[in-house]
Amino acid sequence: MSLPGRVEWRRIVPFVLLHAACLLVLVVGWSWIAVGVAAGAYFARVFGLTAFYHRYFSHRAFKTSRTVQFLGALLGSSAGQGGPIWWAAHHRHHHRTSDQPEDIHSPVQQGFLWSHLLWFMTREANGTNYRVVKDWLKFPELRFLERHDSLAPTLLAIGMFALGATIGQLWPDSGTSGLQMLVWGSFVSSVALYHATFGINSLAHQFGSRRFATKDDSRNNFWLALVTFGEGWHNNHHYYPASARQGFRWWEIDVSYYLLIVLSWLGLVWDLKPAPAHVLASSVRRPAKEAA
Ligand SMILES: [Zn+2]
Ligand SMILES: [Zn+2]
Repeated sequence: MSLPGRVEWRRIVPFVLLHAACLLVLVVGWSWIAVGVAAGAYFARVFGLTAFYHRYFSHRAFKTSRTVQFLGALLGSSAGQGGPIWWAAHHRHHHRTSDQPEDIHSPVQQGFLWSHLLWFMTREANGTNYRVVKDWLKFPELRFLERHDSLAPTLLAIGMFALGATIGQLWPDSGTSGLQMLVWGSFVSSVALYHATFGINSLAHQFGSRRFATKDDSRNNFWLALVTFGEGWHNNHHYYPASARQGFRWWEIDVSYYLLIVLSWLGLVWDLKPAPAHVLASSVRRPAKEAA
């Protein structure tokens, strides 16, 4: 199967413009408050993507109410990485075919740049195989987010501008403004979030250790796990995708899982699926070549 397909300008143009817009930091400068808000927007949306788009919508690793399900989808959608149904459909396909010729974003098959960002710039990638996500189609609110996947990122951008303008007015010493907050809280934080997420498709299939001899080339990578709230334990995850927890050892930091536990204490999520004890305790270490 030859994957590279027709160019989807509708995706490329805003993506490139958003990167270029980050250069506006040279014009608007920075302030502690704008950088802090940008970090907050980054981490909140990392959680939306990893806990909800990935562990919930793609793998059904825990249960929640319809309201929290929608709020999680909304938070994930504000990252500008497509709707939850599109995301889950492609991710389920990735697990079925990972690092095989049919995998739509494999660095092993198509190279780093393709797996990192070129793959979703094709018309083929922008379709959705609804047969693999039938479980979500019955929710009109999710289908709404799917049809209007640029709505949440746009509202976030407007909200950032309003926040910066308000803080700048009420607290002039803060050194911020509407434009500065828009650039940091929306543009810079979204671009950082893009590349952290994409790094799981590209870097976490190339760099790191392999505890489990999975059929793909997935890796466990501490640094990726830190910046993605636990997604860097990607070899663990490919070995046992149903688990709500991806860091299997106490030192495998998995912030999304810790936050999910807190949400479960509050009764907002429940039935967090565990990995079996023998999987958590597994110490099998095999070189990548042996598994390939
Ligand atoms: Zn993977
Ligand atoms: Zn997965």
